[in-house]
Amino acid sequence: MAELKRPLRTCIVCRAKLEKEELLRLKCENKKLLKYDNYGRSFYICYSCMQHLDAKELNSKENKKIQKALCFQCKNKDEYLVQLKEILTDVR
Ligand SMILES: [Zn+2]
Repeated sequence: MAELKRPLRTCIVCRAKLEKEELLRLKCENKKLLKYDNYGRSFYICYSCMQHLDAKELNSKENKKIQKALCFQCKNKDEYLVQLKEILTDVR
């Protein structure tokens, strides 16, 4: 049986290659983090990385890693963890 090859996406935080159902697609517009709306450049964060956001400690190592990856993608320094949390509440 031929192996079905599904396209994999890379999580910007942990660099894991996953199927798109396992990641949240985001974009950055005017230095603000947004849910991807089929327009512009996008990037992905996996759900296991986002689990850390539920922790009260926003300064934890894991959250700092997410923050750093988001700052890099948006080429800006901002409260992206807070923005990401807002997006997640919206999605749920
Ligand atoms: Zn990840």
